[in-house]
Amino acid sequence: MRLILLGPPGAGKGTQAQRLVDKYGIPQLSTGDMLRAAVKAGTPVGLKAKAVMEAGELVSDAIVNAIVAERFDQPDCANGFILDGYPRTLAQADAVQAMLSERHAELDAVIELVVDDKILLQRIAERAEKAKAAGQPVRKDDDPTIAPERLREYYKKTAPLTGYYYAKGMLESLDGMADVDTVTAAIEGILGKVVKAA
Ligand code: ADP
Repeated sequence: MRLILLGPPGAGKGTQAQRLVDKYGIPQLSTGDMLRAAVKAGTPVGLKAKAVMEAGELVSDAIVNAIVAERFDQPDCANGFILDGYPRTLAQADAVQAMLSERHAELDAVIELVVDDKILLQRIAERAEKAKAAGQPVRKDDDPTIAPERLREYYKKTAPLTGYYYAKGMLESLDGMADVDTVTAAIEGILGKVVKAA
């Protein structure tokens, strides 16, 4: 199963991806998590990405495509994966296509979680407050001064991907404002059809 979860920051992609990992036994590939790990470890990629991420902007396609291509070849991706937060630009979408063709593999589904902007910003603010209250580190890009920039980046660079996948007949859009279990059930309904059709 090769799945892309599309949607703006705060749409719930990470939460849903985690549930699918447990059910389907395939890994979640979150470029956000990979980049944060690189920043934490102080790798050359991390050093390049840190300031861009903290400003709520997108890291360069070249960097992100390279880390994903490397990840695709790890043994745990042999039966598929859930892409969360990648692709995020049209160039990245073309790169995924190329990476998969090189490996004689295909995407099974592209699922978009649709959520109102105001709710997204509220969810991000709540996530920051919760982390703070629990004494955990707060993501700099969850700060209310930065989160709107992430949303602008989404509309400028990522939202066109819905048209890209719609035109390929692959896009399935779901109400991301329904409760978490309802969204999971809707995703599983779509994936059930994909698996049966395969
Ligand atoms: P969000 O909670 O906004 O969905 P992520 O954890 O997916 O955030 O990503 C956090 C940040 O990491 C992004 O704002 C961006 O700077 C960087 N990033 C993650 N994935 C990508 C990508 N595919 N292309 C470019 N930048 C990315």
